[in-house]
Amino acid sequence: MQLEDLVALCKRRGFVYQSSAIYGGLQGFFDYGPLGVELKNNIKNAWWREIVHLREDVYGLDSAIILNKSVLNHSGHSDTFHDILIDCKECKCRFRDDEMKTKNECPGCGCADLSQPREFNLMMHVNLGPTHGVHGVLRPETAQGVFINFKNVCDSFSPTLPFGIAQIGKAFRNEITPRNFVFRVREFEQMELEFFIKRDQADKWFAYWVEQRVAWWKKIGVTNIKLLNQKPQELAHYSSATTDIAFEFPHGLEEVEGIANRGDFDLGSHTKMQEQFDIKAKVKENKDSVDKLCMHEDGASFIPNLVETSSGLDRAFLAVLASAYCVEKIDESERVVLKLHPALAPIKAAVIPLAKNRPELVALARKIFTNLKACNIFPVELESGGNIGKCYRKHDEIGTPFCITVDFDTLETNKVTVRDRDTMQQIHVHIDDVVTFIEEKIRL
Ligand SMILES: [Zn+2]
Repeated sequence: MQLEDLVALCKRRGFVYQSSAIYGGLQGFFDYGPLGVELKNNIKNAWWREIVHLREDVYGLDSAIILNKSVLNHSGHSDTFHDILIDCKECKCRFRDDEMKTKNECPGCGCADLSQPREFNLMMHVNLGPTHGVHGVLRPETAQGVFINFKNVCDSFSPTLPFGIAQIGKAFRNEITPRNFVFRVREFEQMELEFFIKRDQADKWFAYWVEQRVAWWKKIGVTNIKLLNQKPQELAHYSSATTDIAFEFPHGLEEVEGIANRGDFDLGSHTKMQEQFDIKAKVKENKDSVDKLCMHEDGASFIPNLVETSSGLDRAFLAVLASAYCVEKIDESERVVLKLHPALAPIKAAVIPLAKNRPELVALARKIFTNLKACNIFPVELESGGNIGKCYRKHDEIGTPFCITVDFDTLETNKVTVRDRDTMQQIHVHIDDVVTFIEEKIRL
């Protein structure tokens, strides 16, 4: 499968569109269509359920997207969050130094007339208020919102270690060259957990979270993954260990999630009175913060360590689609089918009357559809009927796990035909049992 096949399917069936397309588009921005938003929400819900709802030790958060620039100053982003940019003087293109395939050669036109490499900060800035007097920054990661709310959560809930704070939300990076569809974009969504621990338990919890996260990816159907341990010289300055979960995308093996042992860098950077604590990480002096980000135990105050799990939702979306995409030969023809885990499928069932010119079938199909909708458990769709083969193909392509056909027998027996997307097998189910039948199969 090529990336282009997925891009075409996404546009054709209403998963993802290029943003601002009617005005020529805007590079690195995408809009999620009616089915895309459902799939994306289902991935988010699967993550939130696993990380927040099924646990007793993690709190949820939804913090603001625009931050005071001091947050990014003390997080290290203002000084270090950049790529190395090179300009081609011939074709005027700009690229990152790691995109050069041959040394001193423009990847666009091949010439060697290049500018000196220079640092390019990836943060996006906004002016706030009528006089543009206040300077805000679009967050480059959701994690900072967690650190600046650490004391709020501690004051409200008095948690004891270990505990975590999780957040899903948009983040922004001014990528030099957005590419590979929704993989590298300028506006994206992250799913991040910051898990606070005692210093001497960091290794244990790091290993625990690597194992947990691998299991989650496999559970949602993303099985073609590898673990990449970053070598000591590749580690960011704040991290003592990082493991990437990488997925074999159509464009290559790339990271979908990073698990990092960040020590006491983050809370140590944002706390006031740093000198009162035994901070191990190399942190910038902080005279701006007005709060101590510490915990108290047995009469002592200390800054907790943390393990972070950070994944990109848009990358997860692409990995889920790529894992589910199949082309199968049936007799003389081909069918494209998205074998999504039923819990992730945008539409769980389609109700199809066998013939659209028979009012009694159409009416019964609508009645079944209305009943399924009324139980408010899963999204369903009603087809107008007619060409049943065409309906099957469409729902195979968008990953609908069940097609429910209403035919003349249904009028007599009150039984519908339920077709399974993956096996294409058909069974008869009583109208009263349809909800339970589907509900059981769409659980994660
Ligand atoms: Zn060039």
